[in-house]
Amino acid sequence: MSFKMAIVGYGGMGSWHHSNIKELNKEIEVVGAFDIRPEAKEKIIENKLHSYENIQKLYDDKSIDLVLVSTPNDTHVTYAISLLKSGKNVICEKPVTLNKAELERIYEVSEKTGKFFTVHQNRRWDSDLLTVKNIFENKILSKPYTIESRVQGSRKSLHGWRGYKINGGGMVYDWGIHLMDQMLQLIPSKIIEVEAHLHSIDAKEVDDDFTAMFRFENGLTFIINIDMQCFILQPRWYLKCSDGTAIIENWELDGKIVKLLDDEGSLDWSEDIVYTAAGPTRSMVPRPKNTTQEIPLPIVKGEWSDYYKNIADVLNGKSSLIVTKEQALRLMELVDLVFLSNDNKQSVKCFL
Ligand code: NAD
Repeated sequence: MSFKMAIVGYGGMGSWHHSNIKELNKEIEVVGAFDIRPEAKEKIIENKLHSYENIQKLYDDKSIDLVLVSTPNDTHVTYAISLLKSGKNVICEKPVTLNKAELERIYEVSEKTGKFFTVHQNRRWDSDLLTVKNIFENKILSKPYTIESRVQGSRKSLHGWRGYKINGGGMVYDWGIHLMDQMLQLIPSKIIEVEAHLHSIDAKEVDDDFTAMFRFENGLTFIINIDMQCFILQPRWYLKCSDGTAIIENWELDGKIVKLLDDEGSLDWSEDIVYTAAGPTRSMVPRPKNTTQEIPLPIVKGEWSDYYKNIADVLNGKSSLIVTKEQALRLMELVDLVFLSNDNKQSVKCFL
């Protein structure tokens, strides 16, 4: 069976979804779009879609099964609620809303109308995340105690509406939301403390550098950093585990694992102080190379098409949503705590 989809907001992401769905999923057909910008309207027509004259015409179009909302962040809540009320299933771009309270309003309407609502958390299918998952699931490394996840660039200035508070701009909402969603997918434990630091280095109103530290009930520390003024990039992932360390340098998945050889963790270190490049020390004496092994990253390639496949399966009644209400609400509650911690300039205790 084929399902008809429309897009609200035919900018960078809206048009990306259109071409991606055309290529990756035969069960969903994008047939129309609505945008307020004249140039976007022209592009809609150029790309052989129906251009809705106004949003009411889309609400009234009973042939549409599914609508994707890919407008600036502040407009998601209003569109989502109105589209659900008009009888459409809705996928919303991330960040789904600006806070948890807005999202709760959307799910109330979704439940009343019986139409589904979900979020495009596409970065759950990123190859780097799936590779990290693989390292833990196959016990290549175990007992992580600190995980660092970073996305950094040096563009400095934020593009368009992303620079304005009223539109839900800034890096917490833009990239932070992806990295926090990945973290929640990766760590099977509750968060018990959040400390977030937001900086506006170049941006006037919003954060363009975001660092947060999350303490989990199982003892793990997770550090997230998004930065737009990094001229020497840090690794995308750095995993510190009791039996080794892994590094994923970049999106090309360069990196390695260095793991202790069996029983070599209890090496008989000299009792005497040692003179090293760091000066006299016992604690930081370099480890003999023959006590560790270097393992290539066990790379897993992700497919973003799996997201649309899930949506088509839900529409066909064959599956339930991968990005669930509980997950989306938990993520937005975490976003609320990030802003609270930054505003109060202190960590926030929680059980989330
Ligand atoms: P964009 O500025 O390129 O596109 C937004 C479009 O929405 C524009 O064409 C604009 O004219 C239109 N628009 C603005 N206000 C509108 C309104 N009230 N009604 C209808 N149309 C309106 O922005 P973008 O980069 O495409 O981002 C759109 C959404 O997608 C954001 O929520 C963003 O966070 C998200 N996004 C997600 C990813 C991802 O990887 N999942 C990547 C980029 C952007």
